[in-house]
Amino acid sequence: MPDSVCSYCDSRAVFVREHEGVSFCSSCFRTAVENRFRRTVITHHMLDYNDHVAVAVSGGKDSLTLLHLLVRLEGRFPRSRLTAVSVDEGIDGYRDEALELARTACGKLGVEHVVVSYRELFGTTTDEIASLKLGQTPCSYCGVFRRKAINKAAARIGATKIATAHNLDDEVQTVLLNMLHGDPLRIVRSGPVLKDPRRRFLPRIKPLCEVPEKEIVLYAYLSGLQFQSIACPHGHEALRNDIRSFLNQMEVRHPGIKFTLLRSADRLRTQMGADLPFSELRECLKCGDPTTREFCEACTMLEAVAS
Ligand code: SF4
Ligand code: ZN
Ligand code: ZN
Repeated sequence: MPDSVCSYCDSRAVFVREHEGVSFCSSCFRTAVENRFRRTVITHHMLDYNDHVAVAVSGGKDSLTLLHLLVRLEGRFPRSRLTAVSVDEGIDGYRDEALELARTACGKLGVEHVVVSYRELFGTTTDEIASLKLGQTPCSYCGVFRRKAINKAAARIGATKIATAHNLDDEVQTVLLNMLHGDPLRIVRSGPVLKDPRRRFLPRIKPLCEVPEKEIVLYAYLSGLQFQSIACPHGHEALRNDIRSFLNQMEVRHPGIKFTLLRSADRLRTQMGADLPFSELRECLKCGDPTTREFCEACTMLEAVAS
């Protein structure tokens, strides 16, 4: 960190946004992050004045920052409502601490907190699935079950939207992952706002998708947020980790490249999104949830876990 002053006031700078060539003191930095978050929400029409938003809160830096920012924004919309939703995947020595941090943060912010568990919903846990050493990584199962668990919790509380804390780094890693998995159309179907024209899934919004991960870490720290810092013991998504390192190296050498990739994905969506038909949905023969196949992905995975 060079010994410099803030580009917006005379205070000592604590952060340089390389791709914009500006320095921030801690106060101006927090304002800049809050402005970017608000701009994303407004540009993508993420919120309506009377929304009940289910905020997915894991207890990590991203989700606690998201909750903190949404609470500040919600203050301006008296008819809106927030509920934090946490998922207990059953990961010993990891999830308990995160849930406690989420509970404490919700208490401080005065936000209702709902917890659902894989044990309750699916009769198993991520630890148990990991111990089975099935073909795919534990994250493959855990990610599908988490999406279903959050959908169920949001439906239970009558939410109108689901907010998740994906940041810029998560988003651009996923863009490259989809290319490398040979699934480019998934890029077109994803984005900052996911709306199902068939109205079978709740809209999902990602208000932090334009905030880089390192800015979220600093924002959480400067805002005094207590978040979990240890990593999940099962989190070894090899390809995503390689992409993360690659993008971080590229960002150092070519500041702003992550934003360029995000904008490229946005342009693909704008130009191709309307032409992509949505596939027909039917009810999963096991759980009744909407799916394009006989059984939804979660039920198919549960079958594999049980056999
Ligand atoms: Fe689940 Fe993988 Fe995340 Fe751990 S790192 S909580 S296993 S998705
Ligand atoms: Zn300043
Ligand atoms: Zn199902």
